[in-house]
Amino acid sequence: MTLKCQPSASHFINGAYVEDTQGAPIECVFPATGEIVARLHSATPAIVEQAIAAAKAAQKDWARRSGTERGRVLRKAADIMRERNRALSELETYDTGKPLQETLYADATSGADALEYFGGLAGSITGEHIPLGEDWVYTKRIPLGVCVGIGAWNYPTQIACWKAAPALACGNAMIFKPSEMTPLCALKVAEILIEAGAPAGLFNVVQGYGDVGGALVTDPRVDKVSLTGSATTGKKVYAAAAAGMKHVTMELGGKSPMIIFDDADLEDAVSGAMLGNFYSTGQVCSNGTRVFVQKGIKDAFLKRFTERAALIKLGDPLDEDTQMGPMISGAQRDLVMGFVEKGKSEGARLICGGNIVEGDGSFIAPTAFADVTGDMTIAREEIFGPVMSVLDFETEDEVVARANDTDLGLAAGVFTNDIKRAHRVTDRLEAGTCFINTYNDAPVEAPFGGVKGSGVGRENSKAAIEHYSQLKTVYVKMGPVESPY
Ligand code: NAD
Repeated sequence: MTLKCQPSASHFINGAYVEDTQGAPIECVFPATGEIVARLHSATPAIVEQAIAAAKAAQKDWARRSGTERGRVLRKAADIMRERNRALSELETYDTGKPLQETLYADATSGADALEYFGGLAGSITGEHIPLGEDWVYTKRIPLGVCVGIGAWNYPTQIACWKAAPALACGNAMIFKPSEMTPLCALKVAEILIEAGAPAGLFNVVQGYGDVGGALVTDPRVDKVSLTGSATTGKKVYAAAAAGMKHVTMELGGKSPMIIFDDADLEDAVSGAMLGNFYSTGQVCSNGTRVFVQKGIKDAFLKRFTERAALIKLGDPLDEDTQMGPMISGAQRDLVMGFVEKGKSEGARLICGGNIVEGDGSFIAPTAFADVTGDMTIAREEIFGPVMSVLDFETEDEVVARANDTDLGLAAGVFTNDIKRAHRVTDRLEAGTCFINTYNDAPVEAPFGGVKGSGVGRENSKAAIEHYSQLKTVYVKMGPVESPY
């Protein structure tokens, strides 16, 4: 029987699908039903070797092309992605379990935005001229070489494109290893780039578990590693990359605060809290999972939040009316339920959800706790599921100190109608991205990344160019060389 989403082979190397059945099996499961939709194999050392050799061979010639020429390929790929949005969104839904209501708007479209944006920038990646009297220096912004991208499972198309687009725009080649949980979508990105005119070998996809990621990171021919994953994996990958003096971008986890002041617009604050906790079934790195609510608005907030949460339509992610899908896997569901039990046993007050939804898929009802205190496990550890914690506060100084009391610093949100307070508070929050009266918007034009334990480097925006290129300085002497010898 042919499986619903079976690709012609596991890996995409040098412009074509490649298989090596010696690799450990990877089963791709549709999280809503438990159905196996594809069977793939993890990369063997021979596959890793092919991918690195192909990327190394393709990179030099690609870097010699003009930026405009490189950009044209990326912009064409963006157009193809948009034309195929429906099919790509359905695949993303099978791969991740996220509802079509999300994937039709947030995945291939976000990937296409990145390809279009960096395609447009590619022709403007330049150095500068530095006059020194008669002499002068000029700088060139040159590629790093072969970049490795390693993805998490929550946004497989978006992560592949957010890494590939700036890397290729700058003249690099890339080998992308998707998460073993979601191996399918990046293969489509590779196909589309070839159709758009990218040379064979420029963007390769190898499947695999952490060991394959490790083999890529430690190979001396690899110049840069960009990881999206947990803080724990980030520390390992960063250390391995450091041993080879490689460039890194680390997009890691968060435990981000959302602060709702008494004067906030109630409906907006509730919308922000719901989006920042339940979108993608809570499996979003920048989620505002610690919701600090000022005493005066607390009762109204909790009442409105529970009313609206009760209306969330959970179910078949392929039904466009469905608003929330399953967790990525049974294992992730059980992990999240462990946190829910901890919340209960440590004294937090469950105000909605908290239960598994029975059936074949790995569904959890949207869950929120009130009366959470900063020392509870649910307020300290990243849960990566639809579990919101509401903490009370009284003063601005107090809430800023408590919001910053974490090793992580990916994002933060403030809801208030006091314009001065909004800016004053965001100024003091230790986070890579702050939101004022909104939550989790991530347009390609804006830098995205964390401070503290949430990572290093930035994705998206002009800032990403600096993380996929380096400067070469050329000193030009116009007069005679003065020498004491
Ligand atoms: P994970 O850390 O378990 O895995 C991430 C990737 O790293 C996978 O592809 C995995 O195979 C690979 N990997 C694991 N060990 C490795 C090793 N030793 N060497 C090289 N590669 C290795 O993360 P996950 O469970 O897939 O994703 C969830 C995590 O990702 C959460 O913590 C979430 O916050 C984070 N995340 C961050 C962002 C961001 O942009 N900051 C976005 C999405 C997800």
